Amino acid sequence: MLLHVVRALGFFALARRVSRRRLRILCYHGLSIGDQHEYAPVMFMRPEVFERRLQHLKRLNYPIIPLSEAVGKLRSGDIRNGEVVITIDDGWKSTATIAAPFLAKHRFPASLYLTTYYVERNDDVFNVVVQYMFWRTRRATISVAGVAAALDGEYQVKGNEAALVDQWVTFGARYCDAPGRQELLRTLARQLELDFERVIEARRFTLIDRDDVRKLIESGIDIQLHTHRHTFPSDALAAAKEISENREALERLGAGAGVHFCYPSGRYSPDHPQLLAQLGVSSATTCDVGSNAAGDSLFLLKRYLDRDDAEDIEFESELSGFADFLRGLRGNVGRPQETPQ
Ligand SMILES: [Zn+2]
Repeated sequence: MLLHVVRALGFFALARRVSRRRLRILCYHGLSIGDQHEYAPVMFMRPEVFERRLQHLKRLNYPIIPLSEAVGKLRSGDIRNGEVVITIDDGWKSTATIAAPFLAKHRFPASLYLTTYYVERNDDVFNVVVQYMFWRTRRATISVAGVAAALDGEYQVKGNEAALVDQWVTFGARYCDAPGRQELLRTLARQLELDFERVIEARRFTLIDRDDVRKLIESGIDIQLHTHRHTFPSDALAAAKEISENREALERLGAGAGVHFCYPSGRYSPDHPQLLAQLGVSSATTCDVGSNAAGDSLFLLKRYLDRDDAEDIEFESELSGFADFLRGLRGNVGRPQETPQ
């Protein structure tokens, strides 16, 4: 309500003028099929909300430019009109099936930061499905027997979801291969009295495949780095391996080598910017909130993580720079935002 008054008084327009030399970077993840947006509003946005956001961008006449052009302009101090970049993280199936056609309809460029481990497999993203199923179940308690010594027992579910998710995810990661993890998901679904075929309907918990990568590139979406296994360790050798495996996979998929990077879950360490520069990376985005000015580190770019439960007026406040101004007053600039996983 207050934001509507602020806009009516002309403060959004004023903020937009004052911040016209700052680059805005928007961040999206997957689109929601069924109830996914209720489970994780940052990770899965309803298609109608995403479409409405794109219509807002068009109506408000923001220049939407490709990521590489934006990085070049930021480096040379040539951001002049509040330019906006659209980024999409991870590479959920719905990026190809739902988001890409919307973007193409509006002729908006976008970059996809693709984590590649699951792209070369056909499996559901294990840790996310485990988390979703513990969120979805109506069971208050479960009695697990005959699965594995580490998992068997009587458990309270409600209020204890995080610990149970951790227990099942850790077990799957440590003791199962890929088919074993898929089987473990079916076992868990039975324990939680969920219809597993409905949980994974429409491939809503898988990432894109090779064919989708080709179609995305044809529709003008630029594909960039997001590590192979969605983790970026602080150890330099392990981090470099994540980048090289991600690059090799992108090349096998015909998506080029990738020169722009996004920190998985927005986590970075003080040594990461320098390491990325040494690895021939040109820019890196975080999940820290805000916009970007000439002279800011190109390896710690701020973004706005748009979410299903944000109102259009909040989105407009972010775009205009007014939200940034408020954060400045509160000393909140650059705080990390809630991230999926
Ligand atoms: Zn991610």
